[in-house]
Amino acid sequence: MKIQCFSVFLMLIAAAVAQEQTASLATRVTVIRAGVLIDGKSDKPRRNQIITIRGNKIESVSDAGVAKLPADATIIDLSEETVLPGLIDSHTHIFLQGEDPAKGGYDANILNPPLSLRAARATVAARRALEQGFTTLRDVETEGAGYGDVGIKQAINGGYIPGPRLIVATRAISTTGGYPLEGYAPELEMPKGAQIADGPVETRKAAREQLDHGADWIKVYMTHRSWVGKNGELVSQPTLTVEELRAIVDEAHGWGKKVACHAYGGIGLHRALDGGCDSIEHGLDLDDAAISQMLKQGTWYVPTLSVYYTDWGPADTPDGQRDRLRASLHEVSFKKALKSSVKIVFGTDMGGIPWTEPIAQEFIRMTEFGMSPMDAIQSATSRAAVMLDEEGKVGVVAPAAFADVIAVHGDPLRDIKILENVQFVMKDGQVFRGK
Ligand SMILES: [Zn+2]
Repeated sequence: MKIQCFSVFLMLIAAAVAQEQTASLATRVTVIRAGVLIDGKSDKPRRNQIITIRGNKIESVSDAGVAKLPADATIIDLSEETVLPGLIDSHTHIFLQGEDPAKGGYDANILNPPLSLRAARATVAARRALEQGFTTLRDVETEGAGYGDVGIKQAINGGYIPGPRLIVATRAISTTGGYPLEGYAPELEMPKGAQIADGPVETRKAAREQLDHGADWIKVYMTHRSWVGKNGELVSQPTLTVEELRAIVDEAHGWGKKVACHAYGGIGLHRALDGGCDSIEHGLDLDDAAISQMLKQGTWYVPTLSVYYTDWGPADTPDGQRDRLRASLHEVSFKKALKSSVKIVFGTDMGGIPWTEPIAQEFIRMTEFGMSPMDAIQSATSRAAVMLDEEGKVGVVAPAAFADVIAVHGDPLRDIKILENVQFVMKDGQVFRGK
């Protein structure tokens, strides 16, 4: 009895301490001195700025000359650095670990590791993203790991593991014949990387299940296999019909959620647009009709350029020729979309790229293909935030935004590669890396 009373007493003390800690975290004032600030939204950087943070939110941003520093503030001196909002990668797979054919390719991700190993590696991937200054990820499907992304998100939000803010798509949806694993005996029931659904009743039900279990976005595969056609064109096998897709989009929009569509080109891409997809993922082969429909409908474009430069097959094989054609068409599509002012958002397909590689490599491809460094930065900050319905909360250093702040040495507007070397990371008002 006594022991019980004592343990209740201890619990009360622990609760009081926790409450006090939460209160002090909520009111703690931090001031960042920024040598240069690229705020994610403005077109020009500003020099010598003072960013005042209370708890997990930015309270004010002002010129160093006029700012009054609160007496009890912790000062973080980034006066020699360029400060930016935490970056956003809108196309990742924390449950994938590269598709190197020598390591078993895509299939090995799904067939070999127990789920616990996959979750452990997803935990490392999330940490890797945060270390590199990516404080928000839209993770677009777990590739056969079910609702694992919901659990990782809970672990991050619960403070058990470090990681970015996760916006998760859970299982993704495709059709029979529309998702690997492939090349196994037809008698075998192989696991699927996505939820397979046929007909509008099944696709709507799949969307309902995923939304019910925590999907923030729905991911749909609108094309699957691709090959070089008889006239040298890229052919992409379409998957869902417009009717099947409309059921998903209608359901997701009813829940106030959006739909991301993997689509390369041709019939599947046009069905994706006719069915009302909110974002086109990859879009390797955008024809003029697709571009004008994207402009008319306000469709977002997440090109994920870098991943199409990895793991090419040998040049003299059908797969190798297809891989090279995909990359060359992608460049043309990206340039066309850029010229037409399609809303382009930064996404990498990390996971398809091993998590040991730098996420910011995508900035280099985007700028090589003609995007200005500031535009590329905005595609990974304020513009991504609008797509994600998080405008003003993430992707910007401004009052009322979450205090997700990073810093680099040097000027990324002159050398975008600098973003591969993030020196300081704060997420939600707490310093994760640096000073
Ligand atoms: Zn992907």
